[in-house]
Amino acid sequence: MNILVINCGSSSLKYQLIDSDSEAVLAKGLCERIGIEGSVLTHTAAGKDKVVIETPMPTHTTAVKLVIDALTDANHGVINSVDEIAAVGHRIVHGGEKFTSSAIITDEVIKNIEECSDLAPLHNPAHLIGINSCRELMPNVPMVAVFDTAFHQTMPEKAYLYGLPYEYYEKYKVRRYGFHGTSHDYVSARAAEILGKKREDMKIIVCHLGNGGSVSAVDHGKCVDTSMGLTPLQGIIMGTRSGDIDPAICDFICQKEGLTSQEMNNVLNKKSGVLGMSGVSSDFRDVEAAAKEGNKRAANALDAYYYSVAKYIGAYVAAMNGVDAIAFTAGVGENNISGRVEIAKYLGYLGTEIDTEKNNVRGVDAVISKDGSKVALLCVPTNEELAIARQTLALIK
Ligand code: AMP
Repeated sequence: MNILVINCGSSSLKYQLIDSDSEAVLAKGLCERIGIEGSVLTHTAAGKDKVVIETPMPTHTTAVKLVIDALTDANHGVINSVDEIAAVGHRIVHGGEKFTSSAIITDEVIKNIEECSDLAPLHNPAHLIGINSCRELMPNVPMVAVFDTAFHQTMPEKAYLYGLPYEYYEKYKVRRYGFHGTSHDYVSARAAEILGKKREDMKIIVCHLGNGGSVSAVDHGKCVDTSMGLTPLQGIIMGTRSGDIDPAICDFICQKEGLTSQEMNNVLNKKSGVLGMSGVSSDFRDVEAAAKEGNKRAANALDAYYYSVAKYIGAYVAAMNGVDAIAFTAGVGENNISGRVEIAKYLGYLGTEIDTEKNNVRGVDAVISKDGSKVALLCVPTNEELAIARQTLALIK
């Protein structure tokens, strides 16, 4: 069966068509600048050259139509008609407290996603536009919503409640939700599999270290804590996001610089993290290169970044009263060999040591700790699209 995985943003739409039997990606692509001048679709079918189609995409429905045309095209297509798409899996950023797992999309589910929109105003409305466009063009194809927040819904109250007046939770649902849940779920399951163990018997910490980053504690298969919060701004230092700071800094800087709260929010989300600290870039490769050339601010930014990850690992060892495995994933976690070494330097107290030779890998499944380490360290490439396809298939079967 073929599952179409859609990740719809306000002006972009990413897709993958996955054969659920072989789990191979048959085709993937990206529509950019939807609703703006200069729209472009980049489509790649497995084993074929990339195709770039520059054509107006005034609406998301036009974009979805172009994706269907590309998938069914005589030259660069991979299926004959829409009838060969068994289901569509939609990535949804925020499911609030309503969604503890993926859900078949119905009018009721759409209403519930809409109700979570004020928790993710940049994402959920865009996802809904994508869902409605797909429903319009593929009315008979079942669709499933897969939420970034769902995996973290098993957190206990002590982990998700903030030290704030309780009425903000009651009135506005202000609490920790956590994000990257599909990745934390997939990677923790895969880490157990690689070690030949059952996730239900293990304590695992997943470090999803990309441009955005989060750490989670997965105790016997269930998430018990995660570093992101009400929004993806909380937690470790990230590419452009500050992560944890003293909340009083916001008012202090707003007064000093004459910023509004929205402007301050923009600084925290887009101008902070290793970008703001180093003044070099949000891309960890650039910051690493600058540090190597002697840029002190870049070196400090990286040090602070690794330190922030190590502190969360320590917190989650405490939360679970132990840990069996620590998995590194996403752009930095999978590829930054020296970064993993820097983080592992803080972990000696756990009775684990990184193996320099085994750690010399990028983007592949690998145990990277020395034989005999009490806690296993792993590199585990994440695959959110495959996880969405699997969950979509499970629900439509
Ligand atoms: P993601 O958000 O998961 O796509 O991760 C993006 C981040 O991964 C970027 O900041 C990249 O700099 C980083 N990244 C990708 N490859 C490498 C690498 N070889 N070394 C260091 N960082 C990398």
